[in-house]
Amino acid sequence: MVSPMKKIAIVGSGLTGASAARSLTDAGCDVTVFEALPTSGGMTKCDRILGVIYEVNGPHLFHTQDEKIWELVSELCQWVDYRHRILADPFNISARSDTPSNLTENLFSWPLQVNELESLPQWSQIRNELSSRPREPSRNSFATFCIDLVGPTLFDLFIGPYTKKQWGMAPDEIGAEWAPKRIELRTNRDLESFKDPYQGWPVGGYENLIGPMLAGSKLILSEKTSITSHDWQGFDGVVLTCALDEFLDFSFGWLPWRGTRFEHQFFEEVDGTLLQAAAMNYPSGEVRFTRKTEPKWYSGESFVPGTVITTEYPGESDDRHYPIYDRAGVNRSLSEKYKTLVETRMPTNVVVAGRLATYSYINMDQAIRQGINGAKALLRTS
Ligand SMILES: Cc1cc2nc3c(=O)[nH]c(=O)nc-3n(C[C@H](O)[C@H](O)[C@H](O)COP(=O)(O)OP(=O)(O)OC[C@H]3O[C@@H](n4cnc5c(N)ncnc54)[C@H](O)[C@@H]3O)c2cc1C
Repeated sequence: MVSPMKKIAIVGSGLTGASAARSLTDAGCDVTVFEALPTSGGMTKCDRILGVIYEVNGPHLFHTQDEKIWELVSELCQWVDYRHRILADPFNISARSDTPSNLTENLFSWPLQVNELESLPQWSQIRNELSSRPREPSRNSFATFCIDLVGPTLFDLFIGPYTKKQWGMAPDEIGAEWAPKRIELRTNRDLESFKDPYQGWPVGGYENLIGPMLAGSKLILSEKTSITSHDWQGFDGVVLTCALDEFLDFSFGWLPWRGTRFEHQFFEEVDGTLLQAAAMNYPSGEVRFTRKTEPKWYSGESFVPGTVITTEYPGESDDRHYPIYDRAGVNRSLSEKYKTLVETRMPTNVVVAGRLATYSYINMDQAIRQGINGAKALLRTS
């Protein structure tokens, strides 16, 4: 057991760092959180335009099967009871902001529902392709997995061009492991995107979740750290949730990420919502963006006049949003090398957790779990 005044440093105040901070302060540690940005919360940061809340880094819908995590976050803040739904618009009919929000023709639930696809002109071809699918999709690449799952016609309409826009890579250059959690063909008429029992969005935004997580820690904002920036030896343990290549001054070179530019547009003259669902996917190669989202659907703040729509342009930002899971696994091997290096070079106990430090796409519930587990590991070894 750690003595009450063990000194612990946490690098990063996103959900991973903040949940580690909560666990460590609860265990009686003296916790300092270093955050490179002037605000805490990492990817979950929210802001407002003329009173309308929106998400600076795109939509973050909380969903989990982990009852313990749901109990924890429910103790820390109140939640809007929202169940997420996505519509795909392969013909870009809703891409203009003056399209009426009650328009549903040629919009399709995502994940795809077979019964809705019958209205497509290509339906007889699609039906033939669906009946000749292999029993198990090939895991050779993202493309082979998806084509085996939905057939070539649906792949071309809903997945192929979207994937190319999202990653700037051909779908057959991307590893298959990205596919199973994202691509699904449903026959059950369940229109909700997530199957998780616990879902919601924090009332007033994520700062109402992050704030209580960080309460009791010393938060140092606008403080970018690296292996040489601080006397890490002065701490009994460190939780790193930052990108390790950058923290280690790129000793082995860069780990590549795909960044999205988020464009936020305010519409003053709107009482309710503008889009046909909280998230609209635009899979066609004819438009540069992949998604439009509207937080008013899930913020629970329908009483505020106006609305904000966020449009996502993949590949138009240098931010570290999505790790690139190349087929050969080169990037993940490099990330493992950095993990080993940081464990060797840090002069104190170190735990690596969160999306940046583990070079992985994780959902928010996984980030919280990693923060808690990281804290536990540190408590055992410090
Ligand atoms: C576009 C997008 C949409 C998403 N939507 C969802 C969703 O709908 N549902 C869901 O469950 N998950 C979603 N996620 C995943 C979710 O964002 C992550 O699970 C979560 O943010 C991970 O938290 P984190 O603390 O590990 O990382 P981050 O939130 O990135 O936090 C890391 C923090 O470390 C700071 N930092 C970095 N380097 C340093 C340094 N050297 N020194 C000090 N501080 C540093 C950063 O400024 C940042 O504040 C989405 C992710 C993306 C990219």
